[in-house]
Amino acid sequence: LSDKLPDQGLTIFSHMTQLAQQTGAINLSQGFPDFAPPAALLEAAARHLRDGNNQYAPMAGIEPLRQQVALKIAQRYQRTLDHDTELTIVPGATEAIFCAIQTLVHPGDEVILLDPSYDSYAPSVQLAGGRCVHVPLQQPGFTIDWQRLTDAFTVRTRMLIINSPHNPSGALFTRDDLDQLATLLRGKNVWLLSDEVYEHLVYDGRQHASVLAHDELYQRALVISSFGKTYHVTGWKTGYVAAPPTLTAALRKVHQYVSFCGVTPIQHALAEFMASHPQHLEELPGFYQARRDFFCRLLGSSKFHFTPTPGTYFQLADYSAIRADLDDVAMVEWLAHEAGVAAIPISVFYRDPPPGLRLVRFCFAKQESTLQQAAERLCAL
Ligand code: GLN
Repeated sequence: LSDKLPDQGLTIFSHMTQLAQQTGAINLSQGFPDFAPPAALLEAAARHLRDGNNQYAPMAGIEPLRQQVALKIAQRYQRTLDHDTELTIVPGATEAIFCAIQTLVHPGDEVILLDPSYDSYAPSVQLAGGRCVHVPLQQPGFTIDWQRLTDAFTVRTRMLIINSPHNPSGALFTRDDLDQLATLLRGKNVWLLSDEVYEHLVYDGRQHASVLAHDELYQRALVISSFGKTYHVTGWKTGYVAAPPTLTAALRKVHQYVSFCGVTPIQHALAEFMASHPQHLEELPGFYQARRDFFCRLLGSSKFHFTPTPGTYFQLADYSAIRADLDDVAMVEWLAHEAGVAAIPISVFYRDPPPGLRLVRFCFAKQESTLQQAAERLCAL
């Protein structure tokens, strides 16, 4: 067998969730909530299943959902999108990332990734025949090293992938970062893939700096988001891509042969819920900030070192005061077996992990009782 991803095994998320199941560890590894989505959303989904919205959706997604997303984007980012030519509903952000890369990256093209980078980017580039150029974010704070980024561009660079709020670090780009990026990309034939799936999980009164709010960058961008994170339904695998009309048309040519369309009743349920519960988006940052604060307060009496995360539902923690002798991959195995808590190592998101990295990622999208129990175990170390 000569498969196209010879170096890839099971993703770290599948591996750690399986390990949590095998060891009985509390699963703070793979990012997903352990609480129920809003009842009205579930009722809407059940109703649309029962009432027969069970056949193919339009390839670009049902119009009411595209209208709701366009409305949200207008309100949040002051951009008036044409929901017919600039918005595509997709079965998950992962599908969108794959399709966007397939659409634009040709064999031999270079794609710049900022490490640590989400696990699906590099394999998607590889499957398109592209070459990944990895530029590490700098510590502390996982900020852009502008000199290294500038130096990474060549005549073959076709795409830059950015992700803010950032998984796994929780770091946020600022508006100033986007301005600098615009200056850097000006005059270059380079597309921007902006992964903004955690756009609504931003804390302490900060604002998400979206590429959708940046006129110049948007002209060369595909902006990807996911309903999974925003409505506590990661298993619904539904997201969207916002991009200028020519990019959207090109993307849809690929999307129509990868999945053709997303899941119909789910799209109806989301459209209905967005229209009837606009306050959900207002309340979401506070909802998750309370969980972050709860978890961080409990973890404050542990030997982990951390700064409360500014975004996403992930908290990084330095464990060097507990087991400095273990690298992070060994540490998460040890944590699952010895502490009964599953976490994600950070080095797996790098091509060249910085030496001495002693960070693990905990997901705090959990009920208080789950967080409490996990923190008790972590504080006992
Ligand atoms: N994005 C989720 C995380 O970072 C995992 C998604 C997946 O399992 N592929 O934990």
